[in-house]
Amino acid sequence: MSIIVPEDAEARRAVVPVVCYPVETLPVPDLALFRAARQDAEKTDEVRVPPRDAACFNVPAGHYFRISSIEGPQVGDLNLWNAADLSERFYSGKTRALHGTHITTGERMWSSFPTLRPMATVTEDTLGWYGIDGFGGSVHDVIGTRCDPYTNALLAGGQYHHCCLSNLTRAVAAHLGVSLAEAEPHVHDVLNVFMCTGFTRDTGQYFMKASPVRPGDYIEFFAEIDLLGALSACPGGDCSSEHSSDEAACHPLLVEVFRPQDGALKAWQPPQINGYDRSHGLNGDA
Ligand SMILES: [Zn+2]
Repeated sequence: MSIIVPEDAEARRAVVPVVCYPVETLPVPDLALFRAARQDAEKTDEVRVPPRDAACFNVPAGHYFRISSIEGPQVGDLNLWNAADLSERFYSGKTRALHGTHITTGERMWSSFPTLRPMATVTEDTLGWYGIDGFGGSVHDVIGTRCDPYTNALLAGGQYHHCCLSNLTRAVAAHLGVSLAEAEPHVHDVLNVFMCTGFTRDTGQYFMKASPVRPGDYIEFFAEIDLLGALSACPGGDCSSEHSSDEAACHPLLVEVFRPQDGALKAWQPPQINGYDRSHGLNGDA
């Protein structure tokens, strides 16, 4: 069957888009408060993520965590969970719907249904200057998933064991003391920290390009709830050419946790769980 182009095709294409989720009604994070409380915060923990591997870390609510490039340009795949209930976890798709394809200072990592609340707020981003480049690329994306051995087997064949999915699975299994089979379903779509990505204008395909990150760059977050985090140092390194292999130069990443002084966050209100009553129309007025 051939496609028939309607006479008003151009007129239909010319309809002006509207933003799906206007965010004027979203609660605004108090960045001034978070930054003031950060001034005298003390470092309480640090975790070094080895290349082509992952590590877990805990961040109590009201603390900060910083992810830094330390030895060379490197992309990280970040998962977050509510430390007390792993069913509440980062929701990449809704974060994208609310904030766009990439996140930066003042934007948040939102949790899954039914809680749908901020898990972490970006308070600092040394790559905030990058913006959107001429290819439509930007940094810290919520459009990719995480590199994984299943897609690699589908497209290239073979068994590769250091994709971010596998790295995160091993780290979660070791942290929780559970089997790989039990750990794997906890791994979810990530925030691609430092990764520079977009969609090609002509074919709409997901692209990556060499990350602009350099040693010393970091992204820092305020933990809105008690968090378990897992970060993978992607086998793609700076993701300039490929992932899902040992070809790329790959570097460690550093995670540091900071605790503010007592009372510094007195004015902070922890996020409530989402207000929807979950009746789905059956128990109350239809
Ligand atoms: Zn990866």
